[in-house]
Amino acid sequence: MNLKRVSIYVHIPFCARRCAYCDFNTYAWRGSIVRDTLDAICQHIASVDAEDIIVPTIFFGGGTPSLPEPERIIRILDTIRSRFRVLPDAEISIEANPGTVDRSRFAALRQAGFNRLSMGVQAFDDHLLKALGRIHTSDEAIRSYEAARTAGFENINLDLMFALPDQTMRQWQHTLRIAVSLQPEHLSCYALTIEPHTPFYTMYQRGQLNLPDEQTDLRMYQYTIRTLTRAGYEHYEISNFARPGYRCRHNMVYWRNEQYLGFGPGAVSYLHGVRWKCLSNPRRYVKAVREGLPLVEEKEHLDADASLGETIMLMLRLRDGVDVKAVEERYGVNLAQRYAHQLNRLRRLRLLEVTPEHWRITPKGLPIANTICAEFLV
Ligand code: SF4
Repeated sequence: MNLKRVSIYVHIPFCARRCAYCDFNTYAWRGSIVRDTLDAICQHIASVDAEDIIVPTIFFGGGTPSLPEPERIIRILDTIRSRFRVLPDAEISIEANPGTVDRSRFAALRQAGFNRLSMGVQAFDDHLLKALGRIHTSDEAIRSYEAARTAGFENINLDLMFALPDQTMRQWQHTLRIAVSLQPEHLSCYALTIEPHTPFYTMYQRGQLNLPDEQTDLRMYQYTIRTLTRAGYEHYEISNFARPGYRCRHNMVYWRNEQYLGFGPGAVSYLHGVRWKCLSNPRRYVKAVREGLPLVEEKEHLDADASLGETIMLMLRLRDGVDVKAVEERYGVNLAQRYAHQLNRLRRLRLLEVTPEHWRITPKGLPIANTICAEFLV
């Protein structure tokens, strides 16, 4: 049998309350719908034909997967394990929000096999946290982090955000300083983006959000790169930094455009050139799973050209860049010929470094990386 490597993503679409900037598929719901959704996720996983699949990474995201009782989350992990061949050294991550977890919860999750924790901290500044609508304070985030360490998590990511409303450079420096002093294995640092259908979007349109200007945003990003690389982190993706050996293996699957299966409301899968999304609304998802109805909300067939463009776009996010030989082998094309126009232009502008082995966005290109990546989409 030809075994294929497929990662697994589980979406837990519930939060204690919604943050003002968040456009993820998540609901501040409680009670039976939460239990029903988690049961439905187990049933969904158990229904998949998993014969020829081996699983190198699993990621529980959301939402707030640390919010429901750990036993219910562990039951989902156990269902994955009983259905799929999960590799013994699989990376098994779970997102957690400070304010939803204590040491005993962390210990239960760690003992069940979760070996990587991603904590949504965002800022070590109580005013900013309040403005974002976060449910925790800076001190609570630090205590949660320490509780996770005590519970045995040896691979922890902290999610941080910059370019927040009213945030000064000094405040961002303070947040980074505390983050580095905690010595996490991994840091994700994203600039805030204002997404439609969020309270921040409405405030922004009314002129009620005082966002840092572009120059400050850029200085914050450049400061982040300098500070974290000096502190021993590899800047391995546009917004991600890791101690050697601690890159997020699950996210690497996305950035290499490899295959994954998603379970839970709104979860996305990508397999055999087809991308599909599960029903987003938890009630509709639960009903469909229970009654054996179609679970797919959106579906897209990617032909080889579209898939190639996406692979390049995603790999360019990595500081290692596009592995030219690997991509040529995967798609049977000559990349230099196919993208001669883009390569010439971007190289001339000193935005892309091009060698026979790799294409990498230059430091000059990093602040406009998204625009550069989009050049390769068909
Ligand atoms: S905790 Fe995370 S997923 Fe939940 S509302 Fe806030 S940003 Fe969104």
